[in-house]
Amino acid sequence: MTAAIIDGKAFADGLRARLADFVADFVAKAGRKPGLAVVLVGEDPASAVYVRSKGKATEAAGMASFTYRMPADTSQEALLAKVAELNADPAVDGILVQLPLPKGLREDEVIAAIDPDKDVDGFHPINAGRLASGLPGLVPCTPLGSLMLLKDRLGSLSGLDAVVIGRSNIVGKPMAQLLLAESCTVTIAHSRTKNLPEVVKRADIVVAAVGRPEMVKGDWIKPGATVIDVGINRVDAAEPGKTKLVGDVDYAEALEVAGAITPVPGGVGPMTIAVLLRNAVVAAYRREGLEEPAGL
Ligand code: NAD
Repeated sequence: MTAAIIDGKAFADGLRARLADFVADFVAKAGRKPGLAVVLVGEDPASAVYVRSKGKATEAAGMASFTYRMPADTSQEALLAKVAELNADPAVDGILVQLPLPKGLREDEVIAAIDPDKDVDGFHPINAGRLASGLPGLVPCTPLGSLMLLKDRLGSLSGLDAVVIGRSNIVGKPMAQLLLAESCTVTIAHSRTKNLPEVVKRADIVVAAVGRPEMVKGDWIKPGATVIDVGINRVDAAEPGKTKLVGDVDYAEALEVAGAITPVPGGVGPMTIAVLLRNAVVAAYRREGLEEPAGL
């Protein structure tokens, strides 16, 4: 069997095209653009690349983009003051503080300072609680994007066995909550899980969010299962001095067993920014007291 390849890039492009229509609808009703503010503290090159591409994508979607660069020696107080300023700014619907923060800054406190209704990353404890309680809130982008790909591929997920490998607040835990809300039977596996290959073998849906290159082997996967590979790992390529990106799943092996699989790159990765924009538009409609359009 050769698995179908789930094209996250094509799906994300479609989502961004649909978003442009929702943005136009919002502008017509609210008389302003939805606004997304991104705060970058320090000079981490990878973070700088992410922030630039988020800014470009925001503008391409017809939204207002606000980027704030703060030096690496920014104090906790100065960063909290910036968050408070953005919380109070009526033109800002979404606030994202790029993580990781430089050493010495307390991420939890910064996340908790963001207005939960502007928390487009969905990391605020209030949004985590809303997700766990089945209340409307803002949901972390990577797991929500992964769920969109799963529903597009499988339709109803009700009754399926899902195994999520990884229990981070950013990916694993919210992914498990989303799958539970879709009536899957959910297992969360992690670094202390015993007999991981056997646990994974039960799953109709496998979501790997570990950060270990090609850890999940082909013979761990139930034939026909749908595999979502969230991992992004840079490893040495065959050519000396070159590197490449691989996921947490051994893609070549999994391709022979799974029913469908996301590639790395080109699977979950492109969904994350598209869902970030979507969350900002959702936040904008709610903040204006406007009804969210169907399909957003
Ligand atoms: P994390 O380091 O916070 O969490 C990793 C999880 O994996 C932990 O819960 C840990 O218990 C589990 N784990 C570690 N070793 C294990 C093992 N041997 N067996 C089973 N479980 C094990 O990482 P994260 O932030 O959740 O990210 C996970 C991966 O997803 C990383 O590769 C990251 O780069 C990637 N990621 C991708 C996107 C995207 O846009 N596609 C977004 C966020 C994260």
